Amino acid sequence: MSFVHLHVHSQYSFLDGASSLDRLLKKAREMNMAALALTDHNRLTGAIRFYQKARALGIKPIIGAEIDMKGDYHLTLLCKDRKGYSNLCRLLTEAHLSKRNMRPEATRDMLCRFNDGLIALSGCSQGEIPSLIEKGETKEAIKAARFYREAFGDNFFVELIRYPSRDGMLGSYRLAAFAEEVRIPVVATNNVHYAEMEEYKVKELLNAIDQNIPVTRLQSYRTVEQYLKSPKEMMRLFNYLPEAIDTTEEIASRCNLELEIGSPRFPKFDTPQGETDYSHLCKLALAGALKKYGLLTSNIRNRLGRELSTIRKLGFCSYFLVVWDIVHWARERGISCQARGSAVDSLVVYALDISNIDPIAYDLLFERFMHPLRHEPPDIDLDIDRRRRDEVRDYIHQKYGAENVACVGTINTYMARGAIRDVGKALQIPHDITEEACKGIHYLSASKLLEHADSLPELKKSNIYKRPELKLFFELCAAIDGFPKHLSVHLGGLLIGDGGLADLVPLEWSSGGDIISQYDKDDIEELGIVKMDLLALPTLTAIEDTLNSIKKNHGIDVDLDKIDRNDPSAFAMLRDGKSIGTFQLESPAQREMAGRLLPDRFEDIIVSISLVRPGPLKSNMDKLYLPRRHGKEPVTFLHPKLKNALGETLGVILYQEQVLEVAHDLAGMSYAEADGFRRAMTHDRTADEMEKMRDSFISSATRNGVSQSIASKIFEQLAAFAAYAVLAYQTLWLKCHYPAEFFAAVLSNQPMGYYPPRVLVAEAKRSGVRILPPDINRSLDNYAVEDGAIRVSLKQLKGMSEEALESILSERVKGKFISLRDFILRTNTTQPILVNLIRVGAFDSLSNRNELLLQLPELVNLKHKIGKGARPLFEDIESEPGWVETPCDNRKAKMLVERELLSLSLSAHPLDFLPLDAGVTRMKDLPSKATGKTIKIVGSVIRYQTPPTRNGNRVVYVILEDGTGVADVTVFSDVQKKCGQVLFREAWLIVKGKIQRRGPKALSIIAEDLSPVSQR
Ligand SMILES: [Zn+2]
Ligand SMILES: [Zn+2]
Repeated sequence: MSFVHLHVHSQYSFLDGASSLDRLLKKAREMNMAALALTDHNRLTGAIRFYQKARALGIKPIIGAEIDMKGDYHLTLLCKDRKGYSNLCRLLTEAHLSKRNMRPEATRDMLCRFNDGLIALSGCSQGEIPSLIEKGETKEAIKAARFYREAFGDNFFVELIRYPSRDGMLGSYRLAAFAEEVRIPVVATNNVHYAEMEEYKVKELLNAIDQNIPVTRLQSYRTVEQYLKSPKEMMRLFNYLPEAIDTTEEIASRCNLELEIGSPRFPKFDTPQGETDYSHLCKLALAGALKKYGLLTSNIRNRLGRELSTIRKLGFCSYFLVVWDIVHWARERGISCQARGSAVDSLVVYALDISNIDPIAYDLLFERFMHPLRHEPPDIDLDIDRRRRDEVRDYIHQKYGAENVACVGTINTYMARGAIRDVGKALQIPHDITEEACKGIHYLSASKLLEHADSLPELKKSNIYKRPELKLFFELCAAIDGFPKHLSVHLGGLLIGDGGLADLVPLEWSSGGDIISQYDKDDIEELGIVKMDLLALPTLTAIEDTLNSIKKNHGIDVDLDKIDRNDPSAFAMLRDGKSIGTFQLESPAQREMAGRLLPDRFEDIIVSISLVRPGPLKSNMDKLYLPRRHGKEPVTFLHPKLKNALGETLGVILYQEQVLEVAHDLAGMSYAEADGFRRAMTHDRTADEMEKMRDSFISSATRNGVSQSIASKIFEQLAAFAAYAVLAYQTLWLKCHYPAEFFAAVLSNQPMGYYPPRVLVAEAKRSGVRILPPDINRSLDNYAVEDGAIRVSLKQLKGMSEEALESILSERVKGKFISLRDFILRTNTTQPILVNLIRVGAFDSLSNRNELLLQLPELVNLKHKIGKGARPLFEDIESEPGWVETPCDNRKAKMLVERELLSLSLSAHPLDFLPLDAGVTRMKDLPSKATGKTIKIVGSVIRYQTPPTRNGNRVVYVILEDGTGVADVTVFSDVQKKCGQVLFREAWLIVKGKIQRRGPKALSIIAEDLSPVSQR
């Protein structure tokens, strides 16, 4: 006889459970428990991983949930079998979806409909029966017991929880007596909220955060007893009621849920009469291929046949048809849409027009996408024009049924800053202390905070982490590190069920009003559900906008499929590092690579994108490839067998496809095996697993006649790759030939890319494009091209509302605004917007800013009187004094207003007004400075980066901008140590450093000293 815990909360109870699944399971394992239940509040978010982790440890997982019932009651539910699991999913879904913006709530009616396969326990002290007994309402309790007995039959139990306190025990005795009276069997639980007793503090802390109150004001029952007690402890508590212990085992033996993990489930596609999935797919693919290639060579025909039969064998025909249908639907409506990722390796995908990359021309291997040994669903991710993504989503909803489609949920967890702020509030730590503690934190988990407080220079300078009175505070921050906070939408991820989505995945509302899964994307994949990423790629929208604007301004229809792929001027720009604004080529690492690689043809872009990735950089591929590309070193192959796979890339492994080829050619693996190998290599793996893979690769290769040392060298070179080169080149070309149209489009589609608008505006100016300030008679909602210049949009103005914007634009169609009075009377603009418009200069074409500000109150009153604007927005007018601003006609004042209201600097750059000493180098002059020379620059920080490095030593990269250009600064650990007090804390920096060149045009600055700019 033993005891099984049937009421257990984990951290997936979202702010009401203090232990991770691992901690709970580890403790259960140590106590030799044969089974353990997971009953988080209203969600199954932890269930799939719990199921798998428990099984791996030889513990029987029991899946359940503690649900909220109408009347604010709790009820514990456990799944007996698959049916019970489905019912729990449906019950949770209905309980959540029926209550938008509120706590989920299950009703008795729902329990009656979804009772099959479920076991119900009467719940904690907040259960309906325990609550009624507690209040002495025995009659009502008997009625309730009758209901649950009817709904669940002999699968209903009265739950007894005993915390060794006088009240706790008394309540439990009363409840036991009641159960005996109504002849319902009893079961012992401990309403577990943490693995170890001392974690009660964390639980209370989380409760306080959840209720947004200080810990000291927690009302609800506080105890230290909700830990995972040993069977012995539980038996002692129920010494005189052994049947309550026996029942736990009895219930555990009734729970035998088997989940089919890993087998794919697809929505059924409606094929035309007389066609199967397969025949229909074949027809479409063949027709598509004929259209693309004209004549089908035997090579193409064979490959198409091979791909189609693999797709059929794996049962994915329907999936391809579903994707084809979506893309086809979108294209018909002119919505740009294209596949990304490994799907472009498939000829079928190309023939179906899901992708526009020809896998034959680019030697792409189908096996990287799918092959007979891999049974998980292939991943076809679609990039879609951002503005029209919702249309596509609506179509999918309508086609497959709203109940069968949901967004993928994602679990938001605590990092250092969030933990400091929330724990600080709960412990009533003064605001300035928590803010000081947050300062200088740059991507750090809370658990690493104290550990690194002594080693990270930016934290070391602050004594805050070492104050004894804050010790517990920081320990508690660390304790909730990585805890789930809430669920939200995984951007773009969409689930399509096979008609039984609700049987498999509980759904709920996101705060933004989307229906999301309670499982995250990994669990969804485990369950084999089709997941499709509809990614809104702003680049597609920006390209579309650029093309439209070129047509409007120049009357030219640019066909991007027909532009010169090796355009000399576009490549010259890239080589000079002038790629800010372009797709995938604008980061400091890419700009530097361009300066080293000196690209002059399309293939170089593919190489460049491939090289600047953690994999190839880690294995030093850049150092191997570049001298060969420049003809400074001979092209050699570590083994003759590599010539076939690596000939094109000069003997260096750059692409994932090549990993496959190499494993195939060298180690004699089939493509399918080779792909398993590649996937294993490119996923996160432990050093141990890596060692195993290494051994197996080397032994296969040596069996194949390759020497051990060469095989081991080759192993080190296997790397990762994905192709984005086409889009990247298109943006580069557009920026080069139509900079005004291009930047207007990029600025209109923010946020996108790497840089904020102020940097893009500066880059546009450097590309020779004039930027015009907002103007009430000219500016549109978006940035627009006006006589070759870019006019700043009205949307960019701080405080601008949709309503005001709409009224300005629609009134202007009827006639230009002739005065401020005219403008106020005709539009729906509030006073703060009017003030901002005047201050930023949008009325400059009509009158002087100060005069207008003086007139404003009177005019607003006039409108008020006329009655047209009977809006409360103008009520505070009388008390508002006439607005007089300091003289506006100087550049500095204008610039300050622009920065305040537009976050841009148009009239001037802030540095223009800083007394710079003669020793400062402007960024435009950097290229003329000699390598090794020490220089001083001043600029605003665009961003800090701390990418992982080869040896694990942290390197900080800072991008600075000074109006004349950008500079990439590298800060090594000695300077980080020296300048810890400015690192990550300053918006403006003075950098002293040495010019470094890693390639003919790859310039960066190695920092020797950082100091803050004392402003003005
Ligand atoms: Zn409860
Ligand atoms: Zn509970």
